[in-house]
Amino acid sequence: MNRIIQILIILTFFHSVAGQEVKHTKQIEKIYNAALTDGSAYNWLDFLSNQIGARLSGSLNAKRAVEWGERELQKLELDRVVLEDVMVPKWVRGSLEYASIITGPGMSINVPVCALGGSIATPAFGLRAQVVEVKSFEELEELGQDQVRGKFVFFNRAMPANLVNTFEAYSQSVNQRSSGAAKAARMGAVGVIVRSMNLRLDDFPHTGNMRYGDLPNKLRIPAAAISTNGAQLLSSMLSLNKELYFYLKQDCKNYPDVPSHNVIGELKGSTHPEEIIVVGGHLDSWDLGDGSHDDGAGIVQSMEVLNLFKKLNYRPKRTIRVVLFMNEENGLRGGTTYANNAKLKNETHIFALESDSGGFTPRGFSFEATPEQFQKIEQWSDYFKPYLADRFSLGGSGADIGPLRNGSTVLSGLRPDSQRYFDYHHAANDTFDAINKRELELGAAAMTSLIYLVDQYGF
Ligand SMILES: [Zn+2]
Repeated sequence: MNRIIQILIILTFFHSVAGQEVKHTKQIEKIYNAALTDGSAYNWLDFLSNQIGARLSGSLNAKRAVEWGERELQKLELDRVVLEDVMVPKWVRGSLEYASIITGPGMSINVPVCALGGSIATPAFGLRAQVVEVKSFEELEELGQDQVRGKFVFFNRAMPANLVNTFEAYSQSVNQRSSGAAKAARMGAVGVIVRSMNLRLDDFPHTGNMRYGDLPNKLRIPAAAISTNGAQLLSSMLSLNKELYFYLKQDCKNYPDVPSHNVIGELKGSTHPEEIIVVGGHLDSWDLGDGSHDDGAGIVQSMEVLNLFKKLNYRPKRTIRVVLFMNEENGLRGGTTYANNAKLKNETHIFALESDSGGFTPRGFSFEATPEQFQKIEQWSDYFKPYLADRFSLGGSGADIGPLRNGSTVLSGLRPDSQRYFDYHHAANDTFDAINKRELELGAAAMTSLIYLVDQYGF
């Protein structure tokens, strides 16, 4: 008798697990169908990119983007839509930069450059100096002050082409852009020219943040990015003539901080409202393109998560919050403010997901989680197999949600195919025409499905 009861209990258990799996498979199918046939992500991005455009922190367009985000989230009839106050840095590019390589009297070639975000201007009449080319900070140190003083330092280390994950290639090269000027200035350089963070050879200079750190104001020097083709040209011309001159003119400027906002929308949980799940991207962008991939895509995909839940009449068990973070690019103030306020309010975040790797075909997700948490998450990857988005790995998540890291909150990043991302990243060609509608929608569907599973199971 006992044995029969035991068998019945086991059978009931497996039956209910199988039943759950069927239920989740069906729900995820519905999510994908809705995203691909009735979603709003693409139209939202069309508006954000083409009607608003570039939205650097502190700009009028950033303000318009906040108003747009609030308005669109209100239309979704969520339980709560609020603006969170954030003070942000304000840096303005000013008039278009100009640069040329000068090999002799009356002999010069223009090269495409752009000021790096946070850089100071050149003197109004520009800056003309000889150039030393280096591939690393070690090489710069070895040159010594005598060879650097009074010159431009040209940082020309290319992103390594052999790495399949282009974000890894980026992280191996980006220190030239972020701290090259501070290093070169301490050695007496008058300016820096940095090879664009781009694997492709083309004519777009790619901007991005740079910092002087604790370098005193009077020692600060202007920093500009040069296109990859421009970098190749400058390097080959230097190999023929080390005495050539480089001319750079830019009039960018840093202003005092200005008020801005994160935009937050929320669906309240029906059974565990105190457990918060965040999904987001960053609303600000650089000023050269319209920020469609970085990170307009992540913004509209995150908004789509709540939109699809509403469309499918899905009432979450836990509280699901979309956060349109302000100022990822040059300060991360939105992300840090959000995490600080969450701590002050004693909120419990169980999960945060960010999309900030472009609107390309999703391959899966990476997670910052404990081994126990990841063991649980890994089992869900089967649900994503039919959609070719089942690569789940341990790894990074996203810059804006990083400040929520506390050892128990699981952090995750959408991982789209990364081969084309750095063709556009922070450059004038990061525009709406570089977005594929279906790829964008597949990303939104994958994110919604993952949030659905987290909501169902919790941690
Ligand atoms: Zn970004």
